[in-house]
Amino acid sequence: MIIDDRNYDVIIIGTGAGGGTLARKLAPTGKKILVLERGEYQAKESSELEDVEVFKKEQFHPIEQWFDNVGEPFQPQTNYAVGGNTKIYYGILTRMRERDFEEVRHQDGISPAWPLKYRDFEPYYTEAEKLYQVHGKLGEDPTEPHHSESYPFPEVDRDPQIQAIADTLSQLGYHPSHLPLGLGDSGRTDAEDTGITPALQSDNITLKTSAKVVCLHTNPSGTEIKAVQAKVGERSYLFFGNIVVLACGAINSAALLLHSANETHPNGIANRSGLVGRNLMKQQLSVVVQLTSSVNSGLFPRTVGLNDFYWGDKDFPYPLGHIQNAGGLLQDVIFSEAPPILSGLARLLPGFSLRQLATRSLGWWLQTEDLPNLDNRVRFVGDKLRVEYTPNNLEAHDRLVYRWFDVLKGVEAKQTAIFNRGGTRPRSDMPLSVVAHQCGTCRFGEDPTTSVLNLNCQTHDVDNLYVVDSSFFPSSASVSPALTVIANALRVGDSIIGRLG
Ligand SMILES: Cc1cc2nc3c(=O)[nH]c(=O)nc-3n(C[C@H](O)[C@H](O)[C@H](O)COP(=O)(O)OP(=O)(O)OC[C@H]3O[C@@H](n4cnc5c(N)ncnc54)[C@H](O)[C@@H]3O)c2cc1C
Repeated sequence: MIIDDRNYDVIIIGTGAGGGTLARKLAPTGKKILVLERGEYQAKESSELEDVEVFKKEQFHPIEQWFDNVGEPFQPQTNYAVGGNTKIYYGILTRMRERDFEEVRHQDGISPAWPLKYRDFEPYYTEAEKLYQVHGKLGEDPTEPHHSESYPFPEVDRDPQIQAIADTLSQLGYHPSHLPLGLGDSGRTDAEDTGITPALQSDNITLKTSAKVVCLHTNPSGTEIKAVQAKVGERSYLFFGNIVVLACGAINSAALLLHSANETHPNGIANRSGLVGRNLMKQQLSVVVQLTSSVNSGLFPRTVGLNDFYWGDKDFPYPLGHIQNAGGLLQDVIFSEAPPILSGLARLLPGFSLRQLATRSLGWWLQTEDLPNLDNRVRFVGDKLRVEYTPNNLEAHDRLVYRWFDVLKGVEAKQTAIFNRGGTRPRSDMPLSVVAHQCGTCRFGEDPTTSVLNLNCQTHDVDNLYVVDSSFFPSSASVSPALTVIANALRVGDSIIGRLG
C-alpha cells in the first residue's frame, strides 16, 4: 500500500455532474483538493454518435456486472470517465417544478416533500444554468417554475420536421416548449469541460484518473473519515483529507458506504438509519417511435418538451409525467438499450438498413416519476452488488404512453407529408440496466432516523463526510435529474466553503 502523506483539505470522489461541478466551485478557495476518478478521459467525439452500428455495441457499458433481485447478472448502463455520465448525457438541463418539492399524491402512493423548497434551490438553478450555458425559452410551458433570471442563452433551433410537429401540437392545444439544453463551443456542456478542466487551471487541484476508491476508513470512534483507499491503476493507495465528498453516482456512492462497513459502522458507513442504499429510484422510462414517410438526418438534438400531462389528465387526477423528443435516432445512446424497437421497425420495413430505418423515424422519450420504496435498494450479497428494484407507478406511466399515442394520431392526421405510415408506433420500456436517472439512495433530511444526509448533504453520522451526487433526492420527480444535481453541488459547495473558512 502506498501512503500519500500530503494532507488534503478536501477529497472529492467522482467527477460527474455532482463531483465535477463541486471541484469547479471549490477551486477558487485555494484549498488543497484531491479529485479521484475511476475512469479515464473520454474523447467527446465518442459520445457524438454518428454510426448506427453503435446500437449494437456495448460502448457505454463498463466491464462490470451488477446483479438483479434474483441474482441474475447485468451490465449497467453507466459511464466511468472524467465527467461521468455527463459525457454521454443529452444535456437537457431542466429545473424540477415547484410542486415537485412538495408532497404529491400519485396513483401508486406518496411522493414525499423535500426538506428544502424550490425557493432554496432557485438561486443555484440560476447559477447552474449560467455555468452549463443553458439555452432555453421561458413562457412556453405552463408548469415552468419561476426563474429569477431568464435563460442565459436563447433556445436552440429545431430540425424542420420537429418544428413542424411542435407547431401542430400547439395548434391542437398542447404546450410544446423548447427543452433547456446545455451547449458550449464544443457541443453539449459536460462536467469535464465545465467542471474539471477549469478547476484544474488552479494549481491547488490534483486529479487522479483510473483511481477507483474501494474503501473509506474511519477513526477508531467512527466519527470521522480518516483515510480513503483507492486502486490507482494497479496499485493501492491511502489518501488523507479533512473533508471527504462522495460523488460516485447514487448506486456507487451507496455501494461504497456499504462496502466500507467496520466495527463502529457495522451496517455501512453513516448507516445508523439503515437507509443507505434504500429508496433507489430511476423513473419509469419508455421510448415510442413513429415511422415517417419523409427522411430526416437522424442527427439532431432533443428540442421539444411537453408537460401537459405532468400533473395529470382530465380523467386521471394523478401525475403522469414528462415527454420529450428523443433526438435523432442515429445519436440516441438509449436506443442501444431498446433492441425491441429496432427489430420492431425492421419487421415493418424489411430490406431497410438500420441507418435507413433510423432516418425514417422519430423517437419520443416518456418519463414518469417512481416512488421511493424501502425495498428498492442497493446492497451486497457476498461481494456481489445487487440492485433490487421493482418498478412502481406503472399505471400512470402506461396512461402517459397511451395518451401520447392519441396525441400522435392527431399530429399524424395533420402532418401527412411527414407521416403516411400512421398507426405504427412501437414502444420499448427501459430494462433494469438503464440506470441513467438513478437517485435517492442517501436521501437528505433533518431527522437522522429517516435520512442519511442533513440539509447540507453532510452525513448525520460522520462529521467530515458529504455526498453530492443524485443520492440525496427524497423523490425523483419526472423531469431529468442532472440540473438539480448540479445546482445542489453548488449549494453544498457554499456550505463547504463556509466550513473551510
Ligand atoms: C445516456 C444518458 C443520457 C442522459 N441524459 C440526461 C439529460 O439529458 N438530462 C439530465 O438531466 N440527465 C441525463 N442523464 C442523467 C445524468 O447524466 C445524471 O443524472 C448525472 O450525471 C448524475 O450525476 P452524478 O454526479 O450523480 O453521477 P455521475 O455523473 O454518474 O458521476 C459519477 C462519477 O463517479 C465516478 N465513480 C464511480 N464510482 C467511483 C469510485 N468508486 N471511485 C472513483 N470514482 C468513481 C464515475 O466514474 C463518474 O465519473 C443521462 C444519463 C445517461 C446515462
